Amino acid sequence: MASGIKRNLEEVKKQLKPGVRLIAVSKTKPVSEIMKAYDAGQRDFGENKVQEMVEKYEQLPKDIRWHLIGHLQSNKVKYIAGFVHLIHSVDSEKLLLTIQKGAAKQKRVINCLLQLHIAEEETKFGLSADEARQLLLPSVLDKVPNLKITGLMGMATFTEKEEQIRKEFRRLKGLFDELRATVVHPVVSLKELSMGMSGDFLMAMEEGSTMVRVGSSIFGERNY
Ligand SMILES: *Cc1c(COP(=O)(O)O)cnc(C)c1O
Repeated sequence: MASGIKRNLEEVKKQLKPGVRLIAVSKTKPVSEIMKAYDAGQRDFGENKVQEMVEKYEQLPKDIRWHLIGHLQSNKVKYIAGFVHLIHSVDSEKLLLTIQKGAAKQKRVINCLLQLHIAEEETKFGLSADEARQLLLPSVLDKVPNLKITGLMGMATFTEKEEQIRKEFRRLKGLFDELRATVVHPVVSLKELSMGMSGDFLMAMEEGSTMVRVGSSIFGERNY
């Protein structure tokens, strides 16, 4: 197992396009396995649960950049506001305002991505394109001076149908380009497009992804 993670990581890294950042998704995996990726040079790790991320943060080296990729409840923001590197899953104004409060209290700037709902499935979280446009109006942005909105995140439908996944990624890239061309505000600097997981990150990069979130291809299958 030990060399497995290092080898998997190198295999994934070889396939990255230049400039694409790899987030190693370590949810459900113990700190001992995260350390194997860390020792192989990996510094960006993604978790989807607040409590799990906090526990791992406390035990692991402090130069790790922690990415929150799962749904975030406002009442849990306070636990991560002091250290989180990037929150990929902002999906409401209420959450933005709560993150602002946590960031101000910690005297930090917290980087955020807006999560867009691009899949056909009902179950996935995320904003519609119109809801994202509404969050990027000055009336909202003026209230969150301690945030930096650096991009968008999306998850494609869980399906074998490549064309559908590609279409969803393409739609997200289209919105990203539109917002980049139209939103001008000190709190917004759109440069990251977080899309692509183990099964679809090659396609995501072809469609313009700048950040891929890869779990099982590095750490193996998860046992819940
Ligand atoms: C679990 C998860 C991933 C990684 O999934 P894999 O298929 O294991 O690569 C990526 N993004 C999010 C939001 C996840 O919850």
